[in-house]
Amino acid sequence: AFDLTGKTALITAAGQGIGFASAVALAEAGAKVFATDINESTFAALKEAHAGIEPFRLNVLDDADVQRATERTGPIDILFNCAGVVHNGTILECPPEDLAFALQLNVTAAYRTIRAYLPAMLEKGGGSIINMSSVASSVKGVPNRFAYSASKAGTIGLTKSVAADYVSRGIRCNAICPGTVQSPSLDDRLRAQGDYEAARKAFIARQPIGRIGKPEEIAALVLYLASDEAAYTTGQIHVIDGGWTA
Ligand code: NAD
Repeated sequence: AFDLTGKTALITAAGQGIGFASAVALAEAGAKVFATDINESTFAALKEAHAGIEPFRLNVLDDADVQRATERTGPIDILFNCAGVVHNGTILECPPEDLAFALQLNVTAAYRTIRAYLPAMLEKGGGSIINMSSVASSVKGVPNRFAYSASKAGTIGLTKSVAADYVSRGIRCNAICPGTVQSPSLDDRLRAQGDYEAARKAFIARQPIGRIGKPEEIAALVLYLASDEAAYTTGQIHVIDGGWTA
C-alpha cells in the first residue's frame, strides 16, 4: 500500500517539523519530493534523509518564487501546503499586522501555490492537494489563538471550495487538522512562555492521550491522502489530535 512510485510531490515549509517528516514519508514511498523552505540551512539534512528528496528555496509569500518553482519542477501529482505561522493572543491582543500576516501565510500562500500548480494537474487528469490547517480553526475554539484560528479556518474553506470545483476532474483537495505536534517551532513557543517545562506540561495536560503528537504521525496521514488509496476522499477535514476534540 501507499506506493508513490512515479509520482512527484512538492512540499512547502519542508525544512523542519511536519513538513520534513512528510518529505521523508513520501520519498520512502517512492515519490520524487521537492522539499522547499525559506531556510536553506535545513537542506543538508533533507538531502541526507533520502536520495529522493530535492530541496530548494521557495518563499510561499513571493509570486515570482512560486512561478520559478513551477518551471523548475514541471507538473506535479501531490502538493502539500504545509507553511504556516502561529500567533498567540486574543482578538484584543491581535494587531492588524498579525492578522494580515497570518492570513498571508496560512491562506493566501496556499491560494498562490494551488493557482500555480493546478492547471498542469488538470492537464494530467489528476492530483492530490493537501492543506495544513489545525484543530484551532472552525473545528475548535482554542483560547489565545485568534489570528491563527481565523486563518486556519480560512484554509478549510479554501480546501472545500477547491475540492468542490474540481472533484469531477481528478483533483482531490483535503485539509489536515493536527492537535499539538512536536516541532522546533513548538519548542520555541514553549520557551517563549518563560518556564519551558511548565508550558510543556500544560500542553500535554490538554491532550487526553497524555502526550504530544509526533511529526511522523502526521506524515503518515499526509502519505495516505497523497496516495491512490485515498481516491474516495476529498474536501474533508482530517482531524489528528490525540483525542483532543473526541
Ligand atoms: P515549524 O513551524 O517548526 O516549521 C515551519 C517551517 O516553515 C520552517 O522550516 C520555516 O523556515 C518555514 N517557513 C516559514 N515561512 C515560510 C515561507 N514564507 N515560505 C516557505 N517556508 C516558510 O513546523 P510545524 O510546527 O511542523 O508546523 C508546520 C505546519 O503545521 C504549520 O502550518 C502549522 O501551523 C501546522 N500545525 C502545527 C502544529 C504543531 O503543533 N506543531 C499543530 C497544528 C498545525
